[in-house]
Amino acid sequence: MTDLAADRQLDHDVIIVGAGFAGLYMLHRLRSAGFSARVLDAADGVGGTWYWNRYPGARCDVQSFDYSYSFSDELQQDWTWSERYATQPEILRYIEHVAERFDLNRDVQLGATVLGATFDDAHSRWTIKLEGGQHLVSTYVVMATGCLSVPKRPSFAGLSDFKGETYISGEWPHHPVQLSGKRVGIIGTGSTGIQLTTAIAREAGELLLFHRTPNFSLPAQNRPLDEEFTRELKSQYDQRRQEARTTTRGYPVPPILSNLSALEVEHEQRLEVYEAVWRNGGPVFTSSFADLLTNPEANATASEFVRGKISSIVQDPATVEALTRFDHPLGTRRPCVDTGYYETFNQPNVALVDVHDDPIVEITADGIRTASGSYDLDVIVFALGFDAMTGALLRMGITGQDGTTLPERWSDGPSAYLGVAMSGFPNLFTVTGPGSPSVLTNMVMAIEQHVDWITGILEFARDQGTDRVEADADTEKLWTQHVVAIADETLFPRANSWWTGANIPGKPRVFMPYIGGLGQFQQVLDDVRTHGYEGFSFS
Ligand code: NAP
Repeated sequence: MTDLAADRQLDHDVIIVGAGFAGLYMLHRLRSAGFSARVLDAADGVGGTWYWNRYPGARCDVQSFDYSYSFSDELQQDWTWSERYATQPEILRYIEHVAERFDLNRDVQLGATVLGATFDDAHSRWTIKLEGGQHLVSTYVVMATGCLSVPKRPSFAGLSDFKGETYISGEWPHHPVQLSGKRVGIIGTGSTGIQLTTAIAREAGELLLFHRTPNFSLPAQNRPLDEEFTRELKSQYDQRRQEARTTTRGYPVPPILSNLSALEVEHEQRLEVYEAVWRNGGPVFTSSFADLLTNPEANATASEFVRGKISSIVQDPATVEALTRFDHPLGTRRPCVDTGYYETFNQPNVALVDVHDDPIVEITADGIRTASGSYDLDVIVFALGFDAMTGALLRMGITGQDGTTLPERWSDGPSAYLGVAMSGFPNLFTVTGPGSPSVLTNMVMAIEQHVDWITGILEFARDQGTDRVEADADTEKLWTQHVVAIADETLFPRANSWWTGANIPGKPRVFMPYIGGLGQFQQVLDDVRTHGYEGFSFS
């Protein structure tokens, strides 16, 4: 591949891998800045995570009008969201609209599975190898491969013996799946499993939810967005976006939140705040007080409140017990957001199977067998989560200078400067990689932040007359240590969460996202840029 890169003309200045929110905006920005770029994606359509995750009930739990591009005021004025939390089909329509509106599709190559990316040190170029034998050569590569794009696959004994249908949430088929009247089992109760549960419970003859570790789920309080709300929103969209860029979460939070300690106020006042935030809905509950994610006692008051809510909704005491046997403080795993999840357990066709102490032993021809019983099923749905943040990058066959591969480089856990670049892998950039706020924030705002910054550093390199950009090893190490150190000041590392890699057997345990928030991260990015992209070498 090295010889190929040396002999060949460059195909593009930049190859972008991934045609989701990140890859499409990257293409748009690079084009505007005068770079030639091409997007590659294995899927048959644009949309990234929203292309793949088309399972029943899929929707985003960041508000639609925040979880959308802010780079074009015309776009945000023209597009109207129908609900507070958009469904997957609506988000996919939006992304397709953006691709058409900005004429992006002509530079998007679909059905293009990347098998390898190799850096040619002598000529400072990357060669991308595609399934089918095509090679593409570029100066730069941007991995816009998503944080939740590699589903965790089922590895249960006996899986191939099952006579019924099986589905993986992140690879849901494009054809309609008929579940009405069937006996359906769902394994997994994260955000995905919870959304599947409420949707499938409406249709299935019987639904068994195989539940291992309780997650906190908070009410979405979803609603249609009426004309008056939308008019008001659009009249202030710009200010809302400006504010969003300064926040921790990447969207403005409701004024009902308190900046006091939960322990500083009287019990009654605390309950009033929790009740108001619960009624407001969405994933902001952990911001009810200032110290819920740093002080275990403060957190316990919030956990207790949610536990009380669950007990008041779910009628069966054994189900309540299984749903509330929390092993982590509220918010230290990504809270789920639901519409009627706990109420679903009161339906006569829905039952929880507690596999915490009675684990799934095998899948049989007829269904699922746990240590103590067997459950006959027509359909099994796997919602087992993702090899998050690093999974896609590690599978991409990336080889840097000196022939070092990314899996070798990250064998003790990921290390990246600002979540955007790795030493030893010159001219390679990652959008919302480990070490950036990414999954702790509104992903679309985080993507725009990274893409704008990557475009800036490439323009800077071009202005300097250089075509080789690399993160310095020492600076990268300091940043990675800083990311871990500030997480250690909080309760986050206490949980077995996918943020730490704990959901994937054998994955090194490192708290991956930057906890400082989007606004604070912007200050870091600005600082690095105004100091001539400090921590990067240009040659
Ligand atoms: P997840 O949160 O990692 O949940 C995976 C579930 O599968 C867990 O309940 C896990 O149980 C279970 N599981 C895995 N292996 C198992 C096994 N061998 N036996 C029994 N149970 C098993 O994954 P996710 O639900 O796909 O969500 C991941 C993230 O995607 C979310 O946190 C969120 O950031 C994002 N997401 C967002 C939305 C939204 O916007 N509404 C929707 C979907 C996903 P244990 O906990 O016991 O391991």
